Amino acid sequence: MTKVIGFHYTLKNDAGDVLDSSVGGDPMLYLADSGHILPALDQVMQALNVGDKKSVSLTVKEGYGEVNPALQMRAKLTQFPPGTDLKLGLQFQMNNDPDSPMLRIVNVQGEDVFLDGNHPLAGRALHFDVEITESREATADEISHGHAHGVGGHHH
Ligand SMILES: [Zn+2]
Repeated sequence: MTKVIGFHYTLKNDAGDVLDSSVGGDPMLYLADSGHILPALDQVMQALNVGDKKSVSLTVKEGYGEVNPALQMRAKLTQFPPGTDLKLGLQFQMNNDPDSPMLRIVNVQGEDVFLDGNHPLAGRALHFDVEITESREATADEISHGHAHGVGGHHH
C-alpha cells in the first residue's frame, strides 16, 4: 500500500537554530516513496501514526549531500543583463539548458558576483521535529500522478 502522509515539521541545524518550519501554516502533504521528501525522513514517517511526534536527525549524506565546490563560482556584474536586480538569494539558470543547475546569488562584492549551485542545505546535518497530521492510503489518481492531492499537496 502506498501512503499519503501529512506532517508538520520544524527543521533545525546542529546549533538548534530553526531553519524552516511549517508550524502556523498548512502541514505538508506528500506521496510516500515519490522522492518529494528526503528518503531517510520519508522512511521514518511511513512507520508513524497520526498524532505521533518524533525528532529525526539526518546526516549530511542523508540530507542534501556534501557541498560541491565545482558548483560555487564567481561571475562579473557585466555578465548580467543591464538592469538585473542582483539580490542575494536570487535564483536563475546559467543558460537555457533545463538540466543546468539552478544558481543562487550568495554574495555581491564590487564587480564580483558569487554564485552557488548547491542546495542551500547541502553540507549540513538536519534535525527535524515532525508531527504526523494525516496518514492514509493513496488514491489511484494520486499514484498515477505521482503526488498527493489536497491541502499542503498538489492542486490542479
Ligand atoms: Zn495530481
